[in-house]
Amino acid sequence: MGRAFVYVILGGGVAAGYAALEFVKKGVSYGELCIISDEPVAPYERPALSKGFLLPEAAARLPSFHTCVGANEERLTPKWYKEHGIELVLGTGVKSADVKRKTLLTTTGETISYKFLIVATGARALKLEEFGVSGSDAENVCYLRDIADANRLVNVIQSCPEGNAVVIGGGYIGMECAASLVINKINVTMVFPEEHCMARLFTTKIANYYEEYYKSRGVNFVKGTVMSSFDFDSNGKVTAVNLRDGSTLSVEMVVVGIGIRPNTGLFEGQLTLEKGGIKVNGMLQSSNSSVYAIGDVAAFPVKAFGETRRLEHVDSARKSAKHVVAAIMEPDKTGEFDYLPFFYSRIFTLSWQFYGDNVGEVIYYGDMSGSAFGAYWVSKGHLVGAFLEGGNREEYEAIAKVTRLRPAIEDLTELERQGLGYAVTV
Ligand code: FAD
Repeated sequence: MGRAFVYVILGGGVAAGYAALEFVKKGVSYGELCIISDEPVAPYERPALSKGFLLPEAAARLPSFHTCVGANEERLTPKWYKEHGIELVLGTGVKSADVKRKTLLTTTGETISYKFLIVATGARALKLEEFGVSGSDAENVCYLRDIADANRLVNVIQSCPEGNAVVIGGGYIGMECAASLVINKINVTMVFPEEHCMARLFTTKIANYYEEYYKSRGVNFVKGTVMSSFDFDSNGKVTAVNLRDGSTLSVEMVVVGIGIRPNTGLFEGQLTLEKGGIKVNGMLQSSNSSVYAIGDVAAFPVKAFGETRRLEHVDSARKSAKHVVAAIMEPDKTGEFDYLPFFYSRIFTLSWQFYGDNVGEVIYYGDMSGSAFGAYWVSKGHLVGAFLEGGNREEYEAIAKVTRLRPAIEDLTELERQGLGYAVTV
């Protein structure tokens, strides 16, 4: 049993949804495109799962956040795929791929062949077991990557009103989940090994601002240590989290956000990998010319940094998706992907954006005791990164623009004096 398509997208997440819209905009013919996803629902805006989805009232539910509403584009429901002749194969995993024969074998036993394959398999949440701790299967231990995880998390939250939660991990999943738990009136302790939250991106000073805000909302921080084991009751539920520093935290629930690993397994030994992802060139094409990769799973050349990076953020998934379709359908008209890294988060009433790279000297601006403040990163005499909390649309656009321009900075004191005004007037 088998079917053949011109274009196959493997994975049905953010990147797949944005690629589908672009295929239609570029005039893909009826029956040419197939999307295969092991999730049971059409592509959706994954960031909603740690934000609107977890609200105690008026929570976001599908179909409201199918792609591509996050970029103010059309909302692609299953009906939309049908109307455009796109084969959406849901609830079906791909268990093996053969890039020489250009075929995929699904968990239902079907062989699907392609002329062009776009790998958009994203990433999976790292499990505690990978760090030598057991207990991930307990019914009150939650991870958050897909809609099934999010539904489970909501059920666990509802099962312990005003209970105690430990959030393990101080990255953006940990931070966003902690905020959502507080909004649900759960008492939260965050535990992570670093000196401060968002260690890969924030400086101590920026992190301090958010930690103080979280503390004002009742969140406790236990930093510089990791969990070593769980205590369980007779039903296998976790009752306490034991930390390596010897302390113990009683809990009704646990949320784990300790990082992700790209889903490259199907292609190991078949495609060149780098930085944990599938290595692609500026056309997002892998070491096999019929196979492309986008989103979290792709390691692509970031021109501004002069090196290959793998980014785990929604904007890069959306934009790489758009670019790959142009690269495949209009190769002569399409240049190399020129992407400026962009991350954002929304927590409580706070909201920040970051563009570029966080290397070099940091110049802070604005008023940290007020609502808007930010920072620039200056490396080798050029502005290479910018961060802003609490900006308006024009201000966020301004820091994006200035980071893209990479202006030479001769006088750091002058940059500090001008602050956000520098970005706005450039
Ligand atoms: P995904 O969206 O993960 O999609 C991958 C798809 O492939 C999934 O449907 C998966 O089931 C499927 N798949 C994998 N393997 C197979 C297989 N073998 N067979 C079939 N299907 C397969 N980024 C930000 O910039 N800002 C945020 O605020 C933010 N919030 C987030 C909140 C949460 C809770 C999460 C989990 C992520 C968040 N992100 C955020 C990151 C962002 O969602 C990802 O960068 C983005 O989803 C990547 O898109 P993708 O298409 O590459 O992967």
